Amino acid sequence: MQTIRQQLGKAYWPLINGEWIATAATFASVNPANPEEIVGQVGSISIEEAEQAIAAAKAAFPRWQRTPAQQRSKLLCRAADLMAQRRAELAAWMVFEVGKTLQEADGEVSEAIDFCRYYAGEMERLDQGYDRNLPGETNRYHYQPRGIAVVISPWNFPLAIPTGMTVAALVSGNCTLLKPAEPSSVIAAKLAEILVEAGIPPGVFQYVPGRGSVVGPYLVKHPDVHMIAFTGSQEVGCRIYAEAAVLQPGQKHLKQVIAEMGGKNAIVIDQSADLDQAVAGVVQSAFSYSGQKCSACSRVIVLNAIYDRFVARLVEATRSLNIGPTVDPATQVGPVINAQARDRIQEYIAKGKAEADVALEMPTPEPGYFIGPVVFSEVPPDAVIAQEEIFGPVLSVLRVQTFDEAINLANGTHYALTGGLYSRTPSHIEQAKAQFEVGNLYINRGITGAIVDRQPFGGFKLSGVGSKAGGRDYLLQFLEPRVVTENIQRQGFAPIEGVDE
Ligand code: NAP
Repeated sequence: MQTIRQQLGKAYWPLINGEWIATAATFASVNPANPEEIVGQVGSISIEEAEQAIAAAKAAFPRWQRTPAQQRSKLLCRAADLMAQRRAELAAWMVFEVGKTLQEADGEVSEAIDFCRYYAGEMERLDQGYDRNLPGETNRYHYQPRGIAVVISPWNFPLAIPTGMTVAALVSGNCTLLKPAEPSSVIAAKLAEILVEAGIPPGVFQYVPGRGSVVGPYLVKHPDVHMIAFTGSQEVGCRIYAEAAVLQPGQKHLKQVIAEMGGKNAIVIDQSADLDQAVAGVVQSAFSYSGQKCSACSRVIVLNAIYDRFVARLVEATRSLNIGPTVDPATQVGPVINAQARDRIQEYIAKGKAEADVALEMPTPEPGYFIGPVVFSEVPPDAVIAQEEIFGPVLSVLRVQTFDEAINLANGTHYALTGGLYSRTPSHIEQAKAQFEVGNLYINRGITGAIVDRQPFGGFKLSGVGSKAGGRDYLLQFLEPRVVTENIQRQGFAPIEGVDE
């Protein structure tokens, strides 16, 4: 932490065609726990620079496409080794730039390393393709990259998510442009440094920070872009999905879009639940990283028989959390990302006060963009705070009479990302497995912290389109399958004769 503190305020430039380019425009990335502390000044690309990056990617593609998959996989493994060597440093950058606790930031470095190693192995597996040969005929099934991939990442997993999407695109043979979220552009610059050190060729990977609302649509709509891998809000994801569907002049392909979006994740607690476990799991799932995880719990649906007991214990457990700057190792709940997020969450809290009872409202430290955890009880199922993603430390507790009602309420939003159940009743566990509509269901444990390969991650409904990150189908989205059939039964081979030779 001391080492990183001495490096605060440095400049970070976009990486275009292998060069760090000093741009005319810059923006400051600040520490959300202390906004006067500038973590880094980041160069913001213009439309012209975005165009240069696309041209460089186009030029680099033929060679990268021909680079053997094994070589591309090795590059990912080198990047993973570099991340492991720089583990402490990377985690500390996250503490300063996005207000993660050190423990959570350390876990995130592990996830980024896992993505590199897992996708490296997956590409080697897929690269084998398969053969279905018959006497007189060969049939070879294999994959080719799509072309140019644009990766647009969020700030809340500032290393793991951009790493996962970027290395998946790269190892599949695509030239890749990374547009990180503005508030986490310094950490994304560290990823760029690591990929350069690992040996990524110029133009194959480019780091293009900039204003999402300006440079984002330009890249998404560009006729030379083949695919967009996006993780972020539903609003932006849906816009990208629509924009990418429009065929632009000169465009000769349809674009592939992966959009991992938000959630309104619920944990159901029935009368048989172990409340020691349930209370701890809900507190961790709802308030770690101040509720700013797409997988965070924002609704708890509790059976009437234990509702009052559960709420009383939840309130006391939440009250025990330490809120403050995450540079302090005692902190469990840090700041939210910026003033805009803080104001938006406060608006939701005001709405919640009109819709439900306040069971707990914790004090908010100053300065910095802090919000103390808030627990609402007796929340009606159709309340705004029970339906919309808040992305902050605000938890709604809903009361139900039956387990069927609990599952119905859990499924009663537009989202289907993560969900949880605390129960010791086998029939309830089986019912939840069959009927709980979420991409990732967790039983008798917290609902955050998915691990690559063990819990491939992602949702459906309005939580996203695409296959699960860190899972077996993920790389397929970055590839196009081809089949080559050859009749080998004929006539042998003949030399070429004629004027051309
Ligand atoms: P966001 O506001 O949607 O931004 C995500 C990215 O999109 C940023 O890089 C942003 O750039 C860029 N962007 C903004 N407007 C754009 C446009 N018009 N065209 C193209 N790109 C544009 O989301 P966020 O606040 O960073 O992240 C929080 C959201 O992500 C939550 O909804 C959360 O649930 C979701 N999330 C989902 C998953 C998942 O796996 N399902 C994982 C993590 C997060 P700027 O920063 O420059 O605006």
